[in-house]
Amino acid sequence: MPTFDFSCRACAHGFELLVRSGDVPHCPACASADVDKLFSVPLLKTSGTHDRAMQAAKRRDKAQGTERMVEQAKYEASHDD
Ligand SMILES: [Zn+2]
Repeated sequence: MPTFDFSCRACAHGFELLVRSGDVPHCPACASADVDKLFSVPLLKTSGTHDRAMQAAKRRDKAQGTERMVEQAKYEASHDD
């Protein structure tokens, strides 16, 4: 099952979590539920992944909707299990 990367808006902690439908993710560092879901590409998990994910999240915030669906499609296409 896929896990998702999150970034906490309250404390900026980044974390990865397996989220089932209906679950509300909470930050493991401060327990805040105010977190951003990031669409990272598992194959590109390097030291720069977090920065890339943050940039993607910022772009997503500016262009909610279509781009978000594109990112989701890319993620699912690259996650072949
Ligand atoms: Zn937090």
